[in-house]
Amino acid sequence: MNYSRFLTATSLARKTSPIRATVEIISKAPKDIISLAPGSPNPKVFPFKSAVFTVENGSTIRFEGEMFQRALQYSSSYGIPELLSWLKQLQIKLHNPPTVNYPPNQGQMDLCITSGCQDGLCKVFEMLINPGDTVLVNEPLYSGALFAMKPLGCNFISVPSDDCGIIPEGLKKVLSQWKPEDSKDPTKRTPKFLYTIPNGNNPTGNSLTGDRKKEIYELARKYDFLIIEDDPYYFLQFTKPWEPTFLSMDVDGRVIRADSLSKVISSGLRVGFITGPKSLIQRIVLHTQISSLHPCTLSQLMISELLYQWGEEGFLAHVDRTIDFYKNQRDFILAAADKWLRDLAEWHAPKAGMFLWIKVNGISDAKKLIEEKAIEREILFVPGNSFFVDNSAPSSFFRASFSQVTPAQMDLAFQRLAQLIKDVS
Ligand code: PMP
Repeated sequence: MNYSRFLTATSLARKTSPIRATVEIISKAPKDIISLAPGSPNPKVFPFKSAVFTVENGSTIRFEGEMFQRALQYSSSYGIPELLSWLKQLQIKLHNPPTVNYPPNQGQMDLCITSGCQDGLCKVFEMLINPGDTVLVNEPLYSGALFAMKPLGCNFISVPSDDCGIIPEGLKKVLSQWKPEDSKDPTKRTPKFLYTIPNGNNPTGNSLTGDRKKEIYELARKYDFLIIEDDPYYFLQFTKPWEPTFLSMDVDGRVIRADSLSKVISSGLRVGFITGPKSLIQRIVLHTQISSLHPCTLSQLMISELLYQWGEEGFLAHVDRTIDFYKNQRDFILAAADKWLRDLAEWHAPKAGMFLWIKVNGISDAKKLIEEKAIEREILFVPGNSFFVDNSAPSSFFRASFSQVTPAQMDLAFQRLAQLIKDVS
């Protein structure tokens, strides 16, 4: 694939930072090399001397001496090598991307670590969006992505979706305003990419089926657009087998996949990773070289030590325990909704993630109800309009998160909400 038509002038103008280049060389150089090159501070003056982290099974991760000095030091913009290689193996095991053994300049799969996948996504958007570009999204969509894309000046086209995600026929109809060969003519403004959250969509909780993904991928090939698969709820899918991912079908190297460890290991450590064609990953890393320089070394080492201690099996066993927790939470919130909101609202059971998307019956604009009146009753939700490109348009929906509340709190919250809806109707 030729990626140049997708890249912004800003991204194309990025060059390797000469100082960062020496960091990459040193990370691969023999141990006895005498290097006066880097501007790394001397960790002997750092005040922290050791740290011990206790893991839930009682084992510990110790940071002292050289290892702790390394944790407190600058590191590679790609991410630390041992975590990169662990995550690469995981991607190969979970998705077996066809691109793994492609030549480096022809879409070969690569990976970089970012400060949460949010950081990676922002860099991807900046790499791809010129003002006036056309971008496909399925509304409602994650406001963190929407608000990252909007200032870049793209035109959004909303693709029809239902509780199984994007409807391929709907996408086909949207695309029929172009001819496949139009992608070669920049004045035709054919879509550059489709952004979608395939599992436990934030905010709807919907998941896209594997069959639909196949049809969508074929349309991406026909009309030559990229697919941004933002999948932070992949590890929170409640039923197995998990649906195949876009990455697993990516014969062309047109998928950029965002993964997150925020939901299963820690959100505050800020570790996510972006998988995609090498030449695009390199552009993201060039951006990191001049923004944060690299994701936090201590966070990466903590996670890396844990993952090597667990092994792949241990990690996936932890994922299963996490799924059990969220599945129970999902069932509790569905029971509470059923008990209190049955005739007042509508919803679908989410197949993944941590959100319930609720439509209030008979109220076309629920913003005031959710934003102002609900707080007076000491309950808090996110109004639905926040997740639409035109957030001034009325929405009768709101988002309820079931990640942190107890079953008793869910019950009380929906009891209060039911009373509120009855009072205003
Ligand atoms: N994408 C979506 C759909 C999300 O819901 C979130 C987290 N709210 C992110 C990306 C960002 O995740 P991270 O913590 O890995 O930056």
